[in-house]
Amino acid sequence: MNGGRIERVLIVGGGTAGWMTAAALSHAFRGQPLQVRVIESAAIGTVGVGEATVPHIRHFNAKLGFDEADFITRTKATFKLGIEFRDWGRLGDSYIHPFGAFGQEIGGVPFHQHWLRARAAGYAPPLEDFSLPVVAARRDRFDHPSPDPADVRSTFSYAYQFDAGLYAAYLRAYAEERGVVRTEGRIVEVAQRPEDGFVAAVVLESGERLEADLFVDCSGFRGVLIEGALRAGYEDWTRWLPCDRAVALPCAIAGPLTPYTQATAREAGWLWRIPLQHRVGNGHVYCSAFTSDDEAERALVDQLESSPLAAPNRLRFTTGRRRKQWDRNVVAIGLSAGFLEPLESTSIHLIQLAIGRLLDFFPDGSWDPLDAAEYDRLMQLEYERVRDFLILHYHATERADTPFWDHCRTMTPPDSLRYKMELFRERGAVVNYRDGMFLEPSWLAVYLGQNILPRRHDPLSGKMPDPVLRDALGTLADRYRQAAEAMPRHAAVLQRYAAATR
Ligand SMILES: Cc1cc2nc3c(=O)[nH]c(=O)nc-3n(C[C@H](O)[C@H](O)[C@H](O)COP(=O)(O)OP(=O)(O)OC[C@H]3O[C@@H](n4cnc5c(N)ncnc54)[C@H](O)[C@@H]3O)c2cc1C
Repeated sequence: MNGGRIERVLIVGGGTAGWMTAAALSHAFRGQPLQVRVIESAAIGTVGVGEATVPHIRHFNAKLGFDEADFITRTKATFKLGIEFRDWGRLGDSYIHPFGAFGQEIGGVPFHQHWLRARAAGYAPPLEDFSLPVVAARRDRFDHPSPDPADVRSTFSYAYQFDAGLYAAYLRAYAEERGVVRTEGRIVEVAQRPEDGFVAAVVLESGERLEADLFVDCSGFRGVLIEGALRAGYEDWTRWLPCDRAVALPCAIAGPLTPYTQATAREAGWLWRIPLQHRVGNGHVYCSAFTSDDEAERALVDQLESSPLAAPNRLRFTTGRRRKQWDRNVVAIGLSAGFLEPLESTSIHLIQLAIGRLLDFFPDGSWDPLDAAEYDRLMQLEYERVRDFLILHYHATERADTPFWDHCRTMTPPDSLRYKMELFRERGAVVNYRDGMFLEPSWLAVYLGQNILPRRHDPLSGKMPDPVLRDALGTLADRYRQAAEAMPRHAAVLQRYAAATR
């Protein structure tokens, strides 16, 4: 540290979190004398999963100046318009949580209120007919959104499904080009200052000692610094998000190249399917109190669309968050900060948010405790909001066919979620956040997709006579269908990208 400036940042871990942080710091501090080093251990490896994202990742990539075609080609990415949930509310159900709006406001009243009124009168087409990303996804079509707000193709966004290992390599190349230094080795000791417990240095197995001013703990579930050294503590959310294990198994592509991720509910958890350009990522997230590892693996293997391309990767986790995500001179980012299970592909987004907040509150040598306190407050809030949204998927079910679903259906949700669910059930109102990642269309998709139907609709939606509303809905649904059918096939868009970068 020199004159109160942070000069050396040491990032522990070279998974998605470590390399995203390194790339972002190398970009944000370009031209300034900040040394950034990443320590990673090939012997320990990375978690090896994390392939589906949410649209915000595009802002991260754009900020770093990534060219989309190059990124898509090098990470074997596909486009993602949302997630299809199968068998969640009831066996046989299917709905898509899209990255986009449902319909459009009419007379200052939210679209879904008009739809609820039409539904009560018996003439509403299915809600998903009013979401362009859903209509396109159901046809395996994709196109980029239009920047023109008058164009119906401006009503959606998109994310990516990519090979996480290739994304980390892509970020690493970017960061190293900008001066980030990588050190291979396993940390065996963490040295703390006796006076205040700040981390002073880490010691590698080789005996090498590496000092820094700021440490970013991206060491995954281990939390080598934040927990191993600082004992920041962990808040366990298993009572609401009971899945605690997963098995992942990629296979060759034999099914459709869907522009969406699939999450199919099973007896004691759920299965994911994430199609990439070169393979399909599959996994089973499950609760060990209700099924065994072998049964879970068999359930996954039995439904693979082709033969596996690797050995099964078994993982264990505890859903929850670190009690302090910034403690003294250690900021935990990634799995070391918490894990809320992969149902809505939120982990990489939480990494991105953490990096943004770290840059907002980047410390100087005075280590003002307010920086850490505000960072922590904002990050804890994000984790809670994602948590509530995830719990909704498990709790809002009518399934009673297995002990696991009985448990989920009858659990007591957090008060914050109970209030939101009651408000929607009563009058179709969605509680919106100023901060927090899931907005009205996301909540609507899951509430209605999982059969929570409001008892009443907004009386203001009654201004439009029934025949006029019926016609308006029909016209709107036609517009979405026509726009979706005019889009190219998802596979064709990817082929075009591959040809352009060849
Ligand atoms: C089953 C499952 C499915 C998931 N699916 C998704 C998804 O679809 N979308 C999504 O956004 N997220 C998903 N995630 C989360 C996502 O995988 C992680 O958020 C992401 O990979 C970041 O992990 P990480 O970098 O924090 O940790 P890791 O990938 O575990 O990396 C930890 C790093 O720390 C290093 N390290 C650890 N200990 C030491 C030590 N002592 N010395 C030196 N180095 C050390 C390791 O070598 C490694 O480089 C999923 C997670 C799980 C468990």
